[in-house]
Amino acid sequence: MTEEPSKTKTTVYDNVVKQFNKAADLMGLDPDVRKILARTNNEIVVNFPVKMDDGRIEMFTGYRVQHNNALGPYKGGLRYHPAVDIDEVRALATWMTWKGALTNIPFGGAKGGIQFDPCECTCSEMERITRRFTFALGCNIGPEYDIPAPDVNTNAQIMAWILDTYVSTQPPHERQANVHVVTGKPVESGGSLGRDKATGQGVVYTIEEWAKDKGFDLNGATYTVQGFGNVGCWVARLMKQHGSKLLAVEDASGAVFNPDGIDPDDLLDYARKNKGLISGYPKAEPINHRVLLETKADIFIPAALENQITAKTAPLLNVKLVAEGANGPTDPDGDAILHKKGFDLIPDILCNAGGVIVSYFEWLQNKRSEFWDLKEVDGKLHKKIVDAYERVRNTARKFSTDWRTAAYVVALSRLETVYKERGIFP
Ligand code: NAD
Repeated sequence: MTEEPSKTKTTVYDNVVKQFNKAADLMGLDPDVRKILARTNNEIVVNFPVKMDDGRIEMFTGYRVQHNNALGPYKGGLRYHPAVDIDEVRALATWMTWKGALTNIPFGGAKGGIQFDPCECTCSEMERITRRFTFALGCNIGPEYDIPAPDVNTNAQIMAWILDTYVSTQPPHERQANVHVVTGKPVESGGSLGRDKATGQGVVYTIEEWAKDKGFDLNGATYTVQGFGNVGCWVARLMKQHGSKLLAVEDASGAVFNPDGIDPDDLLDYARKNKGLISGYPKAEPINHRVLLETKADIFIPAALENQITAKTAPLLNVKLVAEGANGPTDPDGDAILHKKGFDLIPDILCNAGGVIVSYFEWLQNKRSEFWDLKEVDGKLHKKIVDAYERVRNTARKFSTDWRTAAYVVALSRLETVYKERGIFP
């Protein structure tokens, strides 16, 4: 991957390029494979009109970037956020390729999104935006080709609308065969048990492995979380089962702190009555972003957006472990500082892979017309996460490198093998 010298602002995709180049240099990645993986396969941009509740028409811009499908169909979430742009989606799509390769699932990498603020839309507008975006993407998605899933500000309901729109545009005799066009659906509409908590569950499985390695007791351990959506909220609720203590939480509305601990289930009850937001939670004191980062704890779990741990913020952290629930929360400068400070880090493509792993299980269940119980889903997820964790740990030791680079080396090695076996058509 080549960095563009003329640009002044560092983008999220620049971070991916740096991470990739570091790992590719270290492992001596085949130069031809390197050229292939340095580019995305397809970048689809759609501009589409939507009728708003007051009758006016708004134009929206949606993206779907398909990075690579050497290992299987493109796979990755859809994000609804004002900051969504082609650079961010390109980065997120590329991380999905590494995640599938690292965890040994038969998926390539993709990501998509629409640039808008869902807080400013009604539910019926969200439905029309989602359905019209799905229609605009047309056959650029499909159950054996490219399979979306939830990400920031999208959820099971939105997946149900995508499913319904997609199958409604298929010939009648093919509609039932397309339920696996999206994952993260409501269970009643073909979703998998355990998909809602899967990403958070995967994060906690990796933290358990880290604790085992270090001889560290999670009972009584303290932690802080940034983001109290799907990932952050589930991580907190599952850490509670270990007897760990949540000291501080931040979401888009602000941050709260309680030295005696915050009950994640109680905070969730509060947020549900407060438009999903934590600000004003009466059983903790409000704090600012800087204080959240400075809070001394054993573990920090970023579970919101990219570029949160940087040259500016990494020096503020005072923890033993950073477990990356979010995609790309640490930029390369932040990485270097955490490494220097001797903090452990479980990198995103390993730490938050539980979501795509259980998406794979959902896709398999749909294809086979099966319905697995929660114990089976959790058991299979645990095995996949622990296998990937061990591969990363062993590779970090073998190459004497940091865990992010080790995770990349594992992922890139699998892709390199596949490209060498198959060769390039024609
Ligand atoms: P979500 O929309 O459910 O929650 C996002 C949370 O981040 C919300 O609590 C929001 O208030 C908070 N947030 C937004 N801006 C913030 C800011 N500036 N400061 C602090 N908090 C802020 O999204 P999610 O699905 O939980 O995704 C969170 C992260 O996890 C993203 O990086 C996403 O790509 C990654 N991820 C999600 C999944 C999944 O299955 N949902 C899987 C893998 C990775």
